[in-house]
Amino acid sequence: MRVLILSDIHANLAALETVLGDADGQYDALWCLGDVVGYGPKPNECIALMRERASLCVMGNHDWAVLNKPGINVDDFNPQARHAVLWTREQLSEENRIYLAGLPFMPVQPPDAPGILVTHASPREPVWEYILTPTIALENFQAFDDAICFVGHTHKPAIFRWHRFASFVEGGDSYEMHEMATVDYLQQRSEGPVELATSPDQRLIINPGSVGQPRDNDARAAYGILDLNRMTWQHLRIPYPIELTQSQMRAARLPKRLVDRLSFGW
Ligand code: ZN
Repeated sequence: MRVLILSDIHANLAALETVLGDADGQYDALWCLGDVVGYGPKPNECIALMRERASLCVMGNHDWAVLNKPGINVDDFNPQARHAVLWTREQLSEENRIYLAGLPFMPVQPPDAPGILVTHASPREPVWEYILTPTIALENFQAFDDAICFVGHTHKPAIFRWHRFASFVEGGDSYEMHEMATVDYLQQRSEGPVELATSPDQRLIINPGSVGQPRDNDARAAYGILDLNRMTWQHLRIPYPIELTQSQMRAARLPKRLVDRLSFGW
């Protein structure tokens, strides 16, 4: 089974349609790591596509904020993001609101993919925490047992590789064995599929990057394809008509800063 993994679409329909076209025929299932809406101009259209195509979708912080439920305060968002959340609330159809409200908040183990965990932000803080550094990743590896955890939320593609090893420390007359673990940060490359070698001593956190609002100084849409038979991961970048999304955002009077940032990928 090959799984198309999308995250942080953020109501950017032009980016989503480009990615779906690019990946067409190369996947058997689609998982979405959350934040289908927020920031962008086409929330209903993007939710409709996920309702139709995604076999799994988890709740992102923007999806939750749009629902206007207890547990999230829209004042915690920056002013432009808050504006977009409030605008999205007004746009959402009732059936799309119900779909978002039904998305799982906690990390999910897809039934057809043993050893894999899927969440929006991090295993220990499923909606809020940004895994940006090996130190934060190391703490999160203690919060799950699966071989691979897929996360989004940072909008930055990354692979964090956890490695456990035994270390012998001198203790008086003898040596004591200590279990140690380190985490390496691996840059995502889109040249070709990489093998996902995992074992009880080597596990991974993988972030595919963002479809609709990349923040790694590369404006192209980001996504990935997981091949569960070969156990490979292919990271991909694809240019999309940014100006189309930007003109839709201007028509919706969404904040200029949100419009401009798409050109630069931050
Ligand atoms: Zn996001």
